[in-house]
Amino acid sequence: MTSEEAGSLGEEAEEPLPGYQRLASDIDILPPQGAFPVSRGAPERKLGRVNRYDRRATLVERRVLCPGTLGLTFEVIDSEPFHFLPGYFIAIRADDETLGKRRSPYCITSPPDGGRRFRLLLRLVHGELSGHLGSLDLGDVISFRGPSGQSMIPKDDERALLLLATGVGIGPFLSLLPYLLELGFDQPVRLFWGLRHLDDLCLVDELEALTDTYANFEYRISLSQPPPNWDGLCGRVTESVPQLLETLGGTRYYLVGNGAMIEEMTDVLSDLGVNRRDVYREAYFNVRYRAQPATLAEIRARFVATDLFSPFTHIEAGLFMPEVPATARSSPSPGGKTTP
Ligand SMILES: Cc1cc2nc3c(=O)[nH]c(=O)nc-3n(C[C@H](O)[C@H](O)[C@H](O)COP(=O)(O)OP(=O)(O)OC[C@H]3O[C@@H](n4cnc5c(N)ncnc54)[C@H](O)[C@@H]3O)c2cc1C
Repeated sequence: MTSEEAGSLGEEAEEPLPGYQRLASDIDILPPQGAFPVSRGAPERKLGRVNRYDRRATLVERRVLCPGTLGLTFEVIDSEPFHFLPGYFIAIRADDETLGKRRSPYCITSPPDGGRRFRLLLRLVHGELSGHLGSLDLGDVISFRGPSGQSMIPKDDERALLLLATGVGIGPFLSLLPYLLELGFDQPVRLFWGLRHLDDLCLVDELEALTDTYANFEYRISLSQPPPNWDGLCGRVTESVPQLLETLGGTRYYLVGNGAMIEEMTDVLSDLGVNRRDVYREAYFNVRYRAQPATLAEIRARFVATDLFSPFTHIEAGLFMPEVPATARSSPSPGGKTTP
């Protein structure tokens, strides 16, 4: 189910929101207050059936970060506890006469600090709910449920992190990074952020503050339509990043934003030997995208790392030839071709 479809469902809809559906195996549902019909077996499905949009927050800050992108800070004004971890989202219901009860998820983009304020990054996409949220005034109140979702905090501190974001997919990383680095996470953390135009650049001050403070963090921005004098990376992240990754092992991957980028990178990383369990994915849109084999082959060919075992890299290097008898496999030619 796409977020568009989720958003247009009536309140009695039994299908959970996309985030709930996909993360059903390891979702954290905060304990309900009082009697609540939550099944132990499938709590997220039960939550999908009842009206949980009973939480309230008021808009306390509204910033235009760049054309078409807003930073909205809300303060929770109900009496329930408000706890979240980096990676969690809230689902907002429009409660609007024209829009009905349209609802959609939005990731929290501020680090957890024990307070009741949280920030969202909103991309205005000529859609109904984003238009509605974009038109809120200070003091307006939203109905929401959550926070819930899948924590981004890595399960161990022994591996490097590679973060790939497109557009407002940067949001959850702005929650994760200050939180994790402040905790003392000292493995290398590399962030690549894909945007379209120079005009889309924003929040760089927050990323710069992190690079100034933490030597193990670095970030690069890739513009798919860069101006002539742009000295950053050029192209989509699937074009500009693969050749910068010297190794793929010993790393956890986080992919957030456009579902097309996420699908392509996940498939190619898997082809190159990365375990899918080491890839955290959060698609905001294009959730049904399926990559063409030719597209995947082009992206795969851009990768330089060959440190993990995979049929693709090892066939290219002439090291994996299941169709050739073992006795004939010992002497690959310099060009990587078989010399039977
Ligand atoms: C788990 C999750 C977290 C999300 N977090 C955020 C968030 O932090 N910030 C945010 O702005 N959105 C986020 N979204 C997307 C959001 O839920 C809505 O889908 C989005 O605001 C569009 O809703 P709409 O009703 O305005 O437009 P719709 O009618 O639902 O969509 C209009 C068109 O815009 C496309 N679209 C949707 N989102 C984007 C986008 N970000 N960039 C480009 N095109 C897009 C849709 O595919 C569709 O073609 C998230 C989605 C999911 C599933």
